[in-house]
Amino acid sequence: METQNKIDYKRLVDSQLDYFNTNTTKDVNFRILMLKKLLNVLKSNEALMDKAIYKDFKKSSFENYTTELSLIYHDINEAISNLKGWSKKISVPTNLANLPGSSYIIPEPLGVTLTIGAWNYPYQLSLAPVIPALAAGNTAIIKPSELSLNTSNVMAKLINDNFDSKYLHVVEGGVEETSELLKQKFDKIFYTGGSVVAKIIMKAAAENLTPVTLELGGKSPTFVFNDANIKITAKRLVWAKFLNGGQTCIAPDYILAEKGVKEKLISEIKKQILEIHGEDPQKSEAFVRIINPRHYKRIMELVDSSKVVIGGETDESDLYISPTVMDNVTFDDAVMQEEIFGPILPIIEFDSLDWAIRMIKDRPKPLALYVFTSSNKNRDKIFHEVSFGGGAVNDAVMHLANPNLPFGGVGNSGMGSYHGKAGFDAFSHYKSILDKSTLIEPPIKYPPYSDWKRKLLKSLIE
Ligand code: NAD
Repeated sequence: METQNKIDYKRLVDSQLDYFNTNTTKDVNFRILMLKKLLNVLKSNEALMDKAIYKDFKKSSFENYTTELSLIYHDINEAISNLKGWSKKISVPTNLANLPGSSYIIPEPLGVTLTIGAWNYPYQLSLAPVIPALAAGNTAIIKPSELSLNTSNVMAKLINDNFDSKYLHVVEGGVEETSELLKQKFDKIFYTGGSVVAKIIMKAAAENLTPVTLELGGKSPTFVFNDANIKITAKRLVWAKFLNGGQTCIAPDYILAEKGVKEKLISEIKKQILEIHGEDPQKSEAFVRIINPRHYKRIMELVDSSKVVIGGETDESDLYISPTVMDNVTFDDAVMQEEIFGPILPIIEFDSLDWAIRMIKDRPKPLALYVFTSSNKNRDKIFHEVSFGGGAVNDAVMHLANPNLPFGGVGNSGMGSYHGKAGFDAFSHYKSILDKSTLIEPPIKYPPYSDWKRKLLKSLIE
């Protein structure tokens, strides 16, 4: 791990600020060039990145592509294609009181940015926010998670060997290094991780009135109604829940099953686990391990073995927990007290939709919410009454894959959003300009004040 002292951090941030102030990064062609370079560096080092993520938690090359690299590549290409349009001056109408004149909005970069990534999608969560940061014309420092050490090392190598540190740089490290970094003045901090650390980040940012985007987590509820297509529901749920070993911020955390649907759903989930992960998921190349022993123990403490109806097999030496389903769960169970972030799927049965909605609303606002149904009534009621980051109908997790849907949480699950244009906005300031003509200067706003002026003003303004 890199050892950088406090002075180095200050020097690094100062050098980025100096570079930003040369206005080099404001040139749209420069930004496009740098994004192309980033794409090229990543694409030509896929094998290295595959190896590192497998070492971190046995994530396959296929999933490294589908859930990390392809999203990064797509975001880079989208930014390259749209950058000229996004960064253009936007003309808006001018109100009567300001005529003759014109009005427009100039998108401008914020300056020196810091992205702090989480370990569960280590490439995506460290690099995807940096794409809009660079696209918007900022400089960037990336601090990947120390928990996924091998991917952190690879990102540091690839970025730091290919980019000048005054423009784009990876700082490796954990709490100590991040705390030192946070003492510096940034123009934007983009954090992905848990809500406890998010408060530390926000406090540090407040010292300099630095704007933050916080991409956090929470327990994402998943409704399954009697009128859902249960076969498709189970297939999509099994994929979404057990993807990445359940370590996905928008994984369906628990199921709220309408009375009458549970038995059929459990039986289909069982079939789908078998179909997707085979008789022994420990041997499946598509089944990722728990990131470290601390998380393994934490997850195991959430499992009540008397309620396990599918799975429950473990191998601590391999940090393996099989896809596990718990039935007859209540909101008082340990598994319902925190975000699971592992391959455990609890099922809670409900009779009254109002009760189920009340239970969600009594808890922190979720990052995602899913509804499996073939009718609109219940879906519309839930979307109308419950606040959450984003979600899907008859699917789970896949809303993240649509770059036209801004991605972010609300309340405890985060603030701000990104991907596509939303990402560009997160790293931009929109500077509003009134551009007045000097052809005439009506006397109306100037003293001496008089009744005719007041009347005319009222008629103009109201
Ligand atoms: P983590 O342990 O990787 O921590 C996240 C980052 O915070 C790391 O870079 C880490 O070094 C830094 N950090 C940790 N402690 C710190 C401290 N005391 N001071 C300063 N920095 C510190 O990740 P995590 O917190 O275990 O992440 C899991 C959480 O993140 C879950 O709640 C998950 O839902 C959420 N998450 C959200 C998204 C999203 O896009 N909304 C994506 C992935 C994960």
